[in-house]
Amino acid sequence: MKLNPKTKIIATVGPASDSLEKLETLLLSGVDIFRINYSHGSHENVAAIIKNIESLNLKHKKHATTLCDLQGPKLRIGEVENNGILLNRNDQVVFVTKPCIGSKERLYMSYQEFPKDVKAGESILIDDGKIKLEVIDTNGTDKVTAKVIYGGLLSSRKGVNLPNTAISLPALTEKDLIDAAFALQSGVTWIGLSFVRKASDLKPLRDLIHKMDKSAYIIAKIEKPEALAELEQIISAADGIMVARGDLGVEVPFDQVPMIQKEIVKRCLIHAKPVIIATQMLESMIENFRPTRAEANDVANAVMDGADAIMLSGETSVGDFPIEAVQAMDRIAHWTENHGFLYYQNMIAPDHRHKFFLRDSICYNACRMAQQIGVKAIVVFTHSGYTAMRVASYRPEANVYVFTNNAYLLDKMQLLWGTQSFYCPELGNTDEAVTLSIDILKKEKLLCLHDTVLHIGSMPVEMHGSANMIRLSKI
Ligand code: PGA
Ligand code: MN
Repeated sequence: MKLNPKTKIIATVGPASDSLEKLETLLLSGVDIFRINYSHGSHENVAAIIKNIESLNLKHKKHATTLCDLQGPKLRIGEVENNGILLNRNDQVVFVTKPCIGSKERLYMSYQEFPKDVKAGESILIDDGKIKLEVIDTNGTDKVTAKVIYGGLLSSRKGVNLPNTAISLPALTEKDLIDAAFALQSGVTWIGLSFVRKASDLKPLRDLIHKMDKSAYIIAKIEKPEALAELEQIISAADGIMVARGDLGVEVPFDQVPMIQKEIVKRCLIHAKPVIIATQMLESMIENFRPTRAEANDVANAVMDGADAIMLSGETSVGDFPIEAVQAMDRIAHWTENHGFLYYQNMIAPDHRHKFFLRDSICYNACRMAQQIGVKAIVVFTHSGYTAMRVASYRPEANVYVFTNNAYLLDKMQLLWGTQSFYCPELGNTDEAVTLSIDILKKEKLLCLHDTVLHIGSMPVEMHGSANMIRLSKI
């Protein structure tokens, strides 16, 4: 069974990786979560990919799970003529909201409210910020005139970022609602909501999940400056967070992104919510079989920041070396965790004013005790998953095994740093649950004679209460 790295790996599935054979190799190379990105129109594939992953899990006794990213209010230009147009410094371009084939003079912008929301002097960034324009004038209804500041070759349907503009589009678009319903119907575990600006943006998706009677969980993607101002509320409202550096690094000055990444990870650890570092981690591996030194450093630093998961995008969806990219990430994370990664570095004592202070205190002190004694394993009994998320948030050095009678939790826990989960429909009373978990871990060769193991749970187990028990055993 996979024990290391404790940092989980997410691989985006696309044409380079969506066959059963490729998915199987990726799974065996260390992928914990497969991501499907609706921005790139893989709609029909979703159900097939989820089915393939389920069958591979059965075959290899794994628990890989899925994350579907909704596109959100992503802005785009339309088709352009001649397979691409060259924009030069000081060229004037008119953005129109009526569909047309784009030229050097006129570009279609998919965002209908653009002329109303934008003001002169604001920036227009295209294609991940590679091309920059400045708004000169807007007619307030259907035309915006802009001047090219940094030009370049522009091809069809490239994304647009407006870092200074307050965009009046909802976080969940009509397309997202259809995509989300389809993903939920197909049995996806995690749903990524793009361009979240405030905590209330999550509500319509949460309502849809409830209405469809599903148990999916929401990842709020942090990629807008507005979200940084409301970070605490967004982390509280979401089930997990993604530091979506692709858009974030264009929407806020790129020099700020490294410290923003560290701050978001720290806040998520305090909230015991899983956090993903995403985009361009091994970007050059789209074309090369090995990463650049800077990329290897970036992956290692995300691990050292304490991220729950690190993510590959183009590297595995369209790249030439999807398997090598996963292997590289796995190796870097593995080495970093085993050489100088400071376990317990982020262990912040629980706040006595917090409503979960008592259970947090059990988890915190259990992790301290585990460290002091040097236990081999921490076993967590949980029904809601909270105890496991809290224990993982302390980043303990001991292996964490989650035992639950809630089958839905297994998929959720897959994103959680350093945990492996076991489904036990019948845990029995406390003594029986402890014995059962030790027997299973011994059978899996995860515990052996003379090992010490620490159990955390609620007594009596069958009441599904909050954690109130720490128990130490020697095998
Ligand atoms: P995307 O999200 O790939 O859907 O844009 C991730 C990011 O922006 O980093
Ligand atoms: Mn994005």
